[in-house]
Amino acid sequence: MGSTGSIGTQALEVIAANVHAFEVEVLTANHNAELLVQQARRFKPNAVVIVNEEHYAFVREQLRNEPVKVYTGESALCSVVEMDTIDLVLTALVGYSGLKPTIKAIEAGKSIALANKETLVVAGELVTSLARAKGVNIYPVDSEHSAIFQCMMGEFHNKIEKVILTASGGPFRGKKKNELLSITKSQALKHPNWSMGAKVTIDSASLMNKGLEVIEAKWLFGLSTKQVEVVVHPQSIIHSLVQFEDGSLKAQLGVPDMRLPIQFALSYPARLKSDFPRFDFSNYPSLTFEKPDTETFRNLALAFEALNRAGNMPCVLNAANEVAVAEFLKDKIGFLEMSDIVEKCLEKMDFIKSPGYEDYVNTDKETRIRAIELVNR
Ligand code: MG
Repeated sequence: MGSTGSIGTQALEVIAANVHAFEVEVLTANHNAELLVQQARRFKPNAVVIVNEEHYAFVREQLRNEPVKVYTGESALCSVVEMDTIDLVLTALVGYSGLKPTIKAIEAGKSIALANKETLVVAGELVTSLARAKGVNIYPVDSEHSAIFQCMMGEFHNKIEKVILTASGGPFRGKKKNELLSITKSQALKHPNWSMGAKVTIDSASLMNKGLEVIEAKWLFGLSTKQVEVVVHPQSIIHSLVQFEDGSLKAQLGVPDMRLPIQFALSYPARLKSDFPRFDFSNYPSLTFEKPDTETFRNLALAFEALNRAGNMPCVLNAANEVAVAEFLKDKIGFLEMSDIVEKCLEKMDFIKSPGYEDYVNTDKETRIRAIELVNR
C-alpha cells in the first residue's frame, strides 16, 4: 500500500533484486497514476488500486491489455488487503489514512510490514491487541524500530530495560528558536542523512518524527513510557539500541539506507544478500551523541506528554500535526507554529480514556477542524 511513495518505490527495488523471493499481488497509489501504471506493467500484480477516482479512467485505459484488475476509491484499499493470495501487506501510506486498511489486513490474518507509523500512534492499543488476537506479526520498517527488532533477535525471552531511539536532529540541530522563525519549507525539506517523503522529512526537522517513533516503539515492543529514551546522533549510523536487564547494550549499525529495513521486514527471519553500500570506518572517524533540545523542538516533549496522558491524546497529537505539516507545506504557517497548533489541540480536545475505533475516527476529525481554526485565526 502506497507503492509510488518513497518507501513503496524502494520496496519495489528490493523486490526487483529478489524476484525469486517475492511476488507482487497488489499495488496501491493515492494519485500518482503514471508511476502506478509503470509499476503495474513491470511487476504484473493481480490488481492495482488508484485511490483518487479522478485517475481511474486513465489507469484502466493504460492497463487494458494487461491481466491486471483496476480498482478505485478508499474502500477498495480495505477490500484488496483481504485477497487470499496475499501473505504480507507493506503499509506505506502517509498518515492517518493507513489506519483502516491496516486494521482490515490484520483482521484478514495478513502479516504486516509497518512503515505507516501513524497507525500505531493513533490507535496503538487497538491495533496491537487486534494483532495479538489474530496471531498476526507486525514487522517494523521504520529504521529505528527495525534496529531494535534486530537487536532483540535471539533475546525474545529476555526482558528489555529500555530502548534508546537515535535521532539525527534534522537539518536545524543546534539552532535556537529565534533562528527558526523564518525557516522556509525548502530548508526544512533538506534532511542531512535520509532521503524520505515530504511528511516524514518535515516531521524529522521538527523532531515530531522522533516523538511519533517513541509512541510507535511503545506499542511495537510493549514498553512503558519510561522505557523509551531518545538520543541525538547526528551521523545516523547507529539506528537504535536496546538495553537489557544485565545492563548490556546492543545496537544495530549501518549506513542510512531505507532499503535495508524494508528488505528485512519482508525477508525476516532470513537475511538476503544485497549490494547496498557498506559502512566504511574511514568515512566516520567519530560517532557523537547529545541530548535532544526539547526547549527549541517542543514536539518531542509534546509527544511524551500525549503518551503519558494516553487514551485518545496520541490521536490528537497526530491529527493536529498532520494538519500543521500540510499547512506549513502550503506556506500558511511558520515552522515553530506547528508545535503551537499541536500544543493547543492537546489542551483543548476532550479526553477519552479507553477509545474504540469510532472514538479515534471522531477524535481525528474534530482535532483537524480545531487545528484548521487555529491556522486561520
Ligand atoms: Mg525512523
